[in-house]
Amino acid sequence: MSLTTPYDAQNIFAQIIRGDAPCYKLYEDDDVLAFLDLFPQSFGHTLVIPKRSAACNILDVDTEALAKVMAVVQKLTRVIVDELQPDGVQVAQFNGAPAGQTVFHIHVHIVPRYSGEGLGIHAAGKADPAELEELQARLQQRIATQA
Ligand code: 5GP
Repeated sequence: MSLTTPYDAQNIFAQIIRGDAPCYKLYEDDDVLAFLDLFPQSFGHTLVIPKRSAACNILDVDTEALAKVMAVVQKLTRVIVDELQPDGVQVAQFNGAPAGQTVFHIHVHIVPRYSGEGLGIHAAGKADPAELEELQARLQQRIATQA
């Protein structure tokens, strides 16, 4: 996938937005959706996406949609840090396959980092559904009290 490949409405995140595929949802409003990464690189790995933009990457997303995504990224990063108490947190966004992008609907990663723990392999190693459910409940509860 190059930086200029047209948007494919069948990508997995578009399916999740339409409700055609499931996700462990953390947050949703009219413009933004956030959910747990199914192949997390660390405990609490979260993805934040625009709902109304058919954009592959940062080059084609409209600025207003990106700003709304980033506001939610900041809010959820605070929630994740407060609830999971990581030692650090990475906020990352990849554009084009050579840069590490594997799903071509623009998204931002929130990856909590714990001292002494390396990162899991990118987009590999499916999480235990029970663990994701428990984590979703914890973070949703924290969002309800904090956001
Ligand atoms: P990218 O490599 O495009 O920056 O990130 C795509 C992310 O989506 C990866 O971290 C990968 O683990 C995650 N991912 C891939 N398929 C699914 C899925 O079906 N559901 C969820 N929740 N995450 C996915």
